[in-house]
Amino acid sequence: MKVDGFPIGISERDEVTTPCYSDLTVRAGLLELFHEEHRQLRPGAAAPELKIEFFAFANVNNTIRLRQGRLLVRLSDLLEGAPDLVLRAIAHILLAKMYRKPIDRAHSSRYRKYIASHEVVSKAHLVRQMRGRKRLNSARGRMYDLDAIFDDLNQRFFYGLMGRPRMSWSRSKTRRILGHYDPAHNAIIISRIFDHPSVPRYAVEYILYHEMLHLKHPVRLRGSRRCVHSAEFRAEEKLFPDWRRAEAWLKGL
Ligand SMILES: [Zn+2]
Repeated sequence: MKVDGFPIGISERDEVTTPCYSDLTVRAGLLELFHEEHRQLRPGAAAPELKIEFFAFANVNNTIRLRQGRLLVRLSDLLEGAPDLVLRAIAHILLAKMYRKPIDRAHSSRYRKYIASHEVVSKAHLVRQMRGRKRLNSARGRMYDLDAIFDDLNQRFFYGLMGRPRMSWSRSKTRRILGHYDPAHNAIIISRIFDHPSVPRYAVEYILYHEMLHLKHPVRLRGSRRCVHSAEFRAEEKLFPDWRRAEAWLKGL
């Protein structure tokens, strides 16, 4: 996965496979804007060959990959009309992630603000409905709202770049499977035992954060092994500030 590219915030399986537009019709100046941000991040480096596509993701989603020396950028079609400053922010964030450079705060906050703006949110909501994604159970429990927790974790740990999959509480109060990510349906299901006032928020967050890492580190399924944790995965799991407390709490379940 690492050799080949660096998917950001999305499992490829969720992608709609037909691009809405090719870079031929991407608006003038967008390629140049990406090249400018590239020059800023890597002065002196040769400009990479770049392909930009707008995609009909089910959510606001942006990805970058390196394939045979070429950078492939896929932007959510919900951002098609975004102002240049916002597109520049996205270019910066994606390229910085790609090259493991620090992300400029001004850019990330500009991107966040734009995404949170009423227009984009309601448009995303409408598009989700139109694209006909059926709900499993509700993401909103009696105590915790999984969509809200996902969005919060997304901002805190993934620069808000992760597309939200379908979120659902499990039907039953299972202790056997605390949470899982289902790539076939692009859904995260969390055991309903966590939807209770006695459960601290950091425990729910930790379970959900783990499942979000599965989105970030897609696994080729082999046989029935569904849950594979690379060293890199485990290291990133420890970036969750409350992981010790959460692990201890989970042991007491
Ligand atoms: Zn796992």
